[in-house]
Amino acid sequence: MKSAGAVQLSAVIYTLLNNHDLVLVAVAALICALSAFAGISLLHHARRSTGWMQMLWLAVAAVSVGFGIWATHFVAMLAFQSGINVGYDLPLTLASLSLAIAIVGGGFWFAAISSSNADSIVAGAVVGVGISAMHYTGMAALIVGGSIAWDGNLVALSILTGMALSAGALRATRSSTLVSRVLAPILLTLAICAMHFTAMGAAGFADCYTIVTSPEGTPGWLWMVLALASTLILGLALGGTALDLRDRRQSSESARMRELADAAVEGLVIVRQGTISATNRSFNKLVGSAVEISGRPLLDYLDAEACAALAQTPNATIEGQLTGTDGPIPVEAVAHEIEFQGVRQLAIAIRDVSVRKQAEEHIRFLAHHDALTGLPNRVSFGDRLNETIDRARSEGQSCTVLCIDLDKFKQVNDLYGHAAGDALLRRVGAILRRELAEIGYPARLSGDEFAIVLNASSSIAAANRLAERLLHAFEADAAEASGDLAISASIGIASFPDNAGNAEQLMSAADMALYRAKQDGRGAYRLFEASMDSELRDRRLVASDLANAVSAGQLSLVYQPQVDLISGAVTGFEALVRWAHPQRGEIPPSTFIPIAEENGLIAQIGEWVLQTACAEAARWPASLSLAVNVSAAQIHNTSFSRPIHEILVRTGLSPLRLEVEVTETALVRDLVRAVTTLRQVRALGVRIAIDDFGTGHSSLANLSAFPFSRIKLDQSFVRSFDRNPQSAAILHAMLELGRYLGVSVVAEGVERREELTFLRSEGCRTAQGYLFGPPARIDRFGDLTGLIEQQRTADEPLQVARA
Ligand code: C2E
Ligand code: CA
Ligand code: CA
Repeated sequence: MKSAGAVQLSAVIYTLLNNHDLVLVAVAALICALSAFAGISLLHHARRSTGWMQMLWLAVAAVSVGFGIWATHFVAMLAFQSGINVGYDLPLTLASLSLAIAIVGGGFWFAAISSSNADSIVAGAVVGVGISAMHYTGMAALIVGGSIAWDGNLVALSILTGMALSAGALRATRSSTLVSRVLAPILLTLAICAMHFTAMGAAGFADCYTIVTSPEGTPGWLWMVLALASTLILGLALGGTALDLRDRRQSSESARMRELADAAVEGLVIVRQGTISATNRSFNKLVGSAVEISGRPLLDYLDAEACAALAQTPNATIEGQLTGTDGPIPVEAVAHEIEFQGVRQLAIAIRDVSVRKQAEEHIRFLAHHDALTGLPNRVSFGDRLNETIDRARSEGQSCTVLCIDLDKFKQVNDLYGHAAGDALLRRVGAILRRELAEIGYPARLSGDEFAIVLNASSSIAAANRLAERLLHAFEADAAEASGDLAISASIGIASFPDNAGNAEQLMSAADMALYRAKQDGRGAYRLFEASMDSELRDRRLVASDLANAVSAGQLSLVYQPQVDLISGAVTGFEALVRWAHPQRGEIPPSTFIPIAEENGLIAQIGEWVLQTACAEAARWPASLSLAVNVSAAQIHNTSFSRPIHEILVRTGLSPLRLEVEVTETALVRDLVRAVTTLRQVRALGVRIAIDDFGTGHSSLANLSAFPFSRIKLDQSFVRSFDRNPQSAAILHAMLELGRYLGVSVVAEGVERREELTFLRSEGCRTAQGYLFGPPARIDRFGDLTGLIEQQRTADEPLQVARA
């Protein structure tokens, strides 16, 4: 085999050296090299083009190489000196040219569209087939006498050599290194030349004879065509080179651009007529795509609306959704028209704004929610309420709200600190969220105020059920929390359009119902009733009248004596305020004092009482003391001691004769502030009595912080001592406590002799009550000095003229 191959090869070399005009062989090789060079350059260019342009450049490349093969063949034939004259059949000659162009074109086309190395080798083999097809068709065009003796082995070798070398050439075009770029045209040239000369070696002309005789030996048209082909090839080679240089410059430019683009944080994508032609690394990372993105529609990645907006308004920033691997990413995009790869395309910069969106979302959340409980805040609640009312109005449905207020929340804050208060509010928030699920919208309006607006379809019955469920849930929660930290709440319910005509009225109706729930003992819920409204309106009227009561001189004071149970002498008086309303008549303080507190009128009224009572007491014998009631709102005002001081100075009453009565409940409401103000009052020399003692459920531990000097036992214990053994026990214990603490104890509301006897037996020193005298205008008591000196059995009532 080896020796056979060697013989064949030497035959080829022999043919080449001895039967050819070497100058013409060199010309053939030059034409061949030029055409191969042009063809490869044009193939490169075609690869970078798309669509029709690609087909055009492929055609030009195929023409270049096809003509190259053809011209090489015929010039080499001219160089062949067989010793006989040959003629050429024109149609077959042209057919050989067409075959070369067509088959090479096919190979190049496949090389341009395919992306794998194997494909390019196949494409090269096709080109090799094209070379052979041209050669043997060209040989068939020879007009000679006799027949050519073909060496089958060499024919096969020629075909395989052409295919192998051109396969190598096209494979080399896939690499962009310098060696490959030089190698590809060289291999193609070798493929054409080696095929030709091996094939010539395979042809035996020994039996051939001349049948065409022309003086010149070669037809003139062949020279003409060859000259034209050569010129064409030269032109194409020059053009191909120019194009290749330009491409190279552009591709080095675009490589630099790509580096720049890849360095960009923003995603960049180049789009041509909706199809992606290039992307940068950031974009690939954004969409998390491992597969090839180029060639896919932009719509696969960006939402349709954004795509349309980008195409319509270049240079404007638009917002859209990018399809990432983990779901949609909010993005901002802007498109610019650029020239890329020789065509106008859209360069789109895409920025991931999810972090910013999240921040915005968070800010929006904070603006609409309460940070502590995470529930919607007052603003969102108002929006939702208006929305629901609007819907209810248009659909003929109702809108129900629940107002929730925690009982004794302030106490938790004061006694256990704000952290405990916060924890309690959070628990309430969690319960509301859990219990409401789908049926309504819970919100924290302020401090310990919560509210719920039910969905428009919910009925009043549903609201009732919800309120009950909530109270149960609070109770269940309370079972786990200890004592005062238990949640207890009151709920008011009102509904549009039954109870109110708009959002504001609806809220105030629910508030009224809530107020009623609180009055009725807390931990309960109440539905709004029309009577509440009239009651409230009435309260408002009273409040507005009360504002003028002081200046109109409608207030007056009555005094109730306090009696020493041993000597029977009057030791002092408690001043009690009266309001003679011009239309409504006498209004009791238990009614109007709370109204004064709610409406901020209490400071003014309290000062009037103090001033009037002190001025009065200053005229009394110095041994008589004066007790004045002050309300919670007064002692919680930290500058409370100032007016007392001024009044004492102004009236000349000794501070030692004045006693301030503060109810136990008022103290408990805000312990910390109460302690501060009362210490200041005590510092003036004024005594402090705890009124209604035993009703505020305060522990001794709490009260020991107060600088009090007297306890006033609540009337309820005195009144029920002989019916309720517990009351007697409490009275006993309190009197013991007073002795233990070294403070005096006053029994209030003594009406019956039995009560007096009991109190005396328990060692109570001072008492007050209808038995000794009802509150009355001071002049009704006559000569006060007499009252002091009077030694009485105290069984007999004071001689006070009843009004
Ligand atoms: P309080 O300080 O416990 O006053 C005692 C109340 O019991 C007075 O009612 C008095 O008339 C009544 N009372 C006295 N002895 C008897 C008795 O033997 N039997 C019965 N059933 N009642 C008796 P009043 O005057 O209607 O005052 C009610 C409450 O109004 C007072 O309770 C006090 O808390 C408040 N108040 C009265 N005047 C003032 C004031 O000038 N300022 C403030 N802040 N509150 C006042
Ligand atoms: Ca009192
Ligand atoms: Ca009292």
